[in-house]
Amino acid sequence: MSRAVLITGGARGIGRAAAARFVAAGDRVAVVARPSPALDATARALGVVALAADLADADACAAVAARAAEALGPIDVLVNNAGVIHRQALTEQPLAEWEDTFAINLRAPFLLAQAVLPAMLERGRGRIINVASIAGTLGTARAVAYCASKWGLIGFTKALSEEVKGRGVIVTALNPGSVDTRMLAGSGFEPDMTPEDVADALHYLSVAPAAIAGAALDLFG
Ligand code: NAD
Repeated sequence: MSRAVLITGGARGIGRAAAARFVAAGDRVAVVARPSPALDATARALGVVALAADLADADACAAVAARAAEALGPIDVLVNNAGVIHRQALTEQPLAEWEDTFAINLRAPFLLAQAVLPAMLERGRGRIINVASIAGTLGTARAVAYCASKWGLIGFTKALSEEVKGRGVIVTALNPGSVDTRMLAGSGFEPDMTPEDVADALHYLSVAPAAIAGAALDLFG
């Protein structure tokens, strides 16, 4: 069955690889990213719907979910993948970076889940997959905002999973270690995985047995 899949941050990195993976499985895919030539190129290359939006803008989140459903039909799978890291020491970090991190990494998943969940519950099926991080299970230096947002996203995942238990909607998180993308560049960490490795795990979570609900799957490569 072809499913309607909405992936945030799909113009490059893990999101782009995930879009390719779901398309290869026969799904209909829309990707969200800020307007850029990369977004248009990804859409053309993969045959997916491009939705330009800034997920740091709360109003844009609900609007983009509505545009995705118009283009694809009711969303079967939401992959909250978009994320940012502002690497900075606590004493040097401007409040704006903390707020940007939380807006994109945690508020956007909250708003997008809020937008797609009613139709999922009505149809008695759906998957919400949140790309958190190993950094959501431990601490790394110069990353207080990022780590806190990813710990938060895992908590969000587990709480929402409990809230919808037994109603056909499966909510999970994926916690990758180091992945070879632009986000890792300059971090000092060596990549242990390709974006395609993570994409395979995301696809797995979209078809995994329902008993996986609430799990946060660590991925070490
Ligand atoms: P990336 O920087 O290549 O991709 C981040 C994506 O988020 C991009 O597509 C970008 O366009 C999108 N994005 C950022 N801000 C946005 C905004 N305001 N509006 C819309 N889209 C926005 O890095 P990536 O590694 O592919 O990151 C994808 C996810 O994986 C992130 O949530 C990241 O935290 C997580 N992650 C990455 C690693 C790693 O080692 N690369 C490890 C663990 C988790």
